[in-house]
Amino acid sequence: MAYLITNVSVLGGAPRDLLIEDGVVKEPGSDKPDNILDGTGLVALPGLVDLHTHLREPGREDAETVETGSRAAALGGYTAVCAMANTSPVADTAGVVEQVWRLGREAGLVDVQPIGAVTVGLAGERLAELGAMADSAATVRIFSDDGHCVADPRLMRRALEYVKAFDGVVAQHAEEPRLTEGAQMHEGEVATRLGLTGWPAVAEEAIIARDVLLAEHVGSRLHVCHLSTAGSVEVVRQAKARGVRVTAEVTPHHLVLTHERAESYDPVFKVNPPLRTPDDVKALRAALAEGIIDIVATDHAPHAVEDKECEWAYARPGMVGLETALSVVLSTGSLEKDGEIDWDLVAERMSRTPARIAGLTDHGHDPLPGAPATFTLVDPAATRTVDPMETASRSKNNPYAGMSLPGRIVATFLRGEPTVLDGKAVK
Ligand SMILES: [Zn+2]
Repeated sequence: MAYLITNVSVLGGAPRDLLIEDGVVKEPGSDKPDNILDGTGLVALPGLVDLHTHLREPGREDAETVETGSRAAALGGYTAVCAMANTSPVADTAGVVEQVWRLGREAGLVDVQPIGAVTVGLAGERLAELGAMADSAATVRIFSDDGHCVADPRLMRRALEYVKAFDGVVAQHAEEPRLTEGAQMHEGEVATRLGLTGWPAVAEEAIIARDVLLAEHVGSRLHVCHLSTAGSVEVVRQAKARGVRVTAEVTPHHLVLTHERAESYDPVFKVNPPLRTPDDVKALRAALAEGIIDIVATDHAPHAVEDKECEWAYARPGMVGLETALSVVLSTGSLEKDGEIDWDLVAERMSRTPARIAGLTDHGHDPLPGAPATFTLVDPAATRTVDPMETASRSKNNPYAGMSLPGRIVATFLRGEPTVLDGKAVK
């Protein structure tokens, strides 16, 4: 089916018409297709790419499935997500990554690119079959034990050496485990007041410092997951200045929420790494604008009610994020120039660069004639009040309940097929 989108602004440019046909964007001719979308006031962006999504299948289908997570992603403007390996069973073999990849194809809502585990069972003891996962139908290029840190420096070194053979990347959840034993929230004045065990900033920064040195030594690619402290930004800044092949991500929640939220004892705000201080938030926003932090990644972490609506100490860490990511980022003003949204920068941080890191060559292309029709349409003038119950995700652990956020995803297309129209999932 062909679509004509009229009067739409591509990345903030002058309004124009676009023809969507045969999976690509074309220059409109004189024939008018049956489907016409009025793009007045809308901005077209390359489909967003999430480098850090937890889809929970196989194993915790009560919290999320590949299909429900894919639908939430499409509603958030995403056309590709990278699925973290901490499923049950763990995605540490060709069989499991191929299963996730196949489920993603069957759902057909976004491209689901599996991430492979670095170590068998995420146990941090021996390397998983990285080569077999790379050679599988899922062509895994990103490896991560996310949820856990690859704490053993020898294993981390070997993983970095191994992935070089196929230009892979190791994505590290930077958390020195000995420094975070029993940790419940950010180590600081709020934790002291609440009597909760602290997760010190240095536990993150020490691992990043070690890993950039290892990546430099090996000459391999390192990606740092969910940077959360001002000190981490400085470690990455110095490494980049030396030419280390390191990229870094920040989550939407670390750009807006701070450790004071724990005062409510509402476990919806429990997350790993924890919410930090206002000064950290400021540094993260500046680093995202500057490019020391390369991308926004959601760390979408759906949890079933019984794992989240309980006492703080027993609650699982994590929050959902796919459907709100763009709005939350826009609300921070980090990607603005002279008070206006810099759509080129939004595309850079949320589509092109994550696509490049993940090696997803079908994604991250500006929706102009000749490009794959894999894009999203945003209404930047719309605002919405977040209701956790209004979601395609199976989980409702949404920390933005009641917040008014700018921007609304109106439509998303994957290779010429709409996955979202008029703000609603097509299938
Ligand atoms: Zn993590």
